[in-house]
Amino acid sequence: MMAKRDYYEVLGVSRNATEEEIKKAYRKLAIKYHPDKNPGDKEAEEKFKEAAEAYDVLSKPDKRARYDQFGHAGMGGASGAGGFGGGFSMDDIFSQFGDIFGGHFGGFGGFGGGSARSGRRVNRGSDIRIRVKLSLKDIMHGVEKTVKINKLVTCDRCHGRGAESEADIKTCDTCRGTGVVTRVTRTILGQMQTQSPCPHCGGSGKIISVPCGKCGGEGVVKASEEITFKVPAGVVEGMQLTVQGKGNAARLGGVNGDLLVLIEEEKSGELQRDGNDLIYTLFISVPDAVLGCDAEIPSVDGKLKIKIEPGVQSGKILRLRGKGIPDVNGYGSGDLLVYVQVWTPARIDRKEKEMMEALRSSDNFKPKPDHNDRNFFDRIKKMFS
Ligand SMILES: [Zn+2]
Ligand SMILES: [Zn+2]
Repeated sequence: MMAKRDYYEVLGVSRNATEEEIKKAYRKLAIKYHPDKNPGDKEAEEKFKEAAEAYDVLSKPDKRARYDQFGHAGMGGASGAGGFGGGFSMDDIFSQFGDIFGGHFGGFGGFGGGSARSGRRVNRGSDIRIRVKLSLKDIMHGVEKTVKINKLVTCDRCHGRGAESEADIKTCDTCRGTGVVTRVTRTILGQMQTQSPCPHCGGSGKIISVPCGKCGGEGVVKASEEITFKVPAGVVEGMQLTVQGKGNAARLGGVNGDLLVLIEEEKSGELQRDGNDLIYTLFISVPDAVLGCDAEIPSVDGKLKIKIEPGVQSGKILRLRGKGIPDVNGYGSGDLLVYVQVWTPARIDRKEKEMMEALRSSDNFKPKPDHNDRNFFDRIKKMFS
């Protein structure tokens, strides 16, 4: 697959462009590269698709935010079985963004009285939204999930035609198969053509005389389907993956909707996630802080042994490099931060009290914080901000 261009660059807008600016920029490109104006021009078609894909992401606040944060990898493509990868087909573009062409194509008879394409309506099945809950382990390594979904699928008896046989499909008389009716009105600016979907056939251009016995002429039936998709490592709570074409099938043929997978993160008791870093709070005893000790740290993949040096300060943060969550874009891994806390008993017996009294009078136990110790507070504040 070719490296994708930055979506902002594609539309020629700045990263803080308003919705209106994005819409305007897309409209301009869509009109410039519209297939009706560039018949048979492959490059124009590619540009047209590229712009549509960029617009699809940048025009939706949630997708845009994800793109801003994660780039193309955040769009759920890359590793997905049937992810975003292939981009849009022309049909997708016309079914999703047809309205943006408004007055330019299909509205006024500006371009040769409107082309056949501009009037055609492509059915698109609706999207299906699901949530998946992932453990830290799933997030750490990526995971393949299989879900069972109740959805509309293409009728296997009529193959989506909706009719018992090919002979039961007739061309609509009202629109003569074009799916649109054109009305000409006279205005002071001259003749104006308006097109609307044919009310007789609903825009399909066809009339079914004998509906399919299984789907009743809808072309789709309810079924349950098992869908397997890959979740890349490093995903974040609230991210949405798109499994393209796995949503509901469209009525009477057309483009399938998508399966939209919302990521939820199972809370782990011990490890707290902060971006790609994991944070673990390690409590050690007063003698362990003074004498040093060995400690076991839970990580996503099991226990890690670390050494605590004698004289560790409460509030020290030890960084275990690369033991955090892998970056969803593949830029390395986060760290596991061990936040050391010295635990002080609330009750002690008489003998312990005597020992403590003795320690208190020792000059060694008088606090003499150096510059580094004083910085702990800032670092902790930063870590939990
Ligand atoms: Zn059928
Ligand atoms: Zn019709």
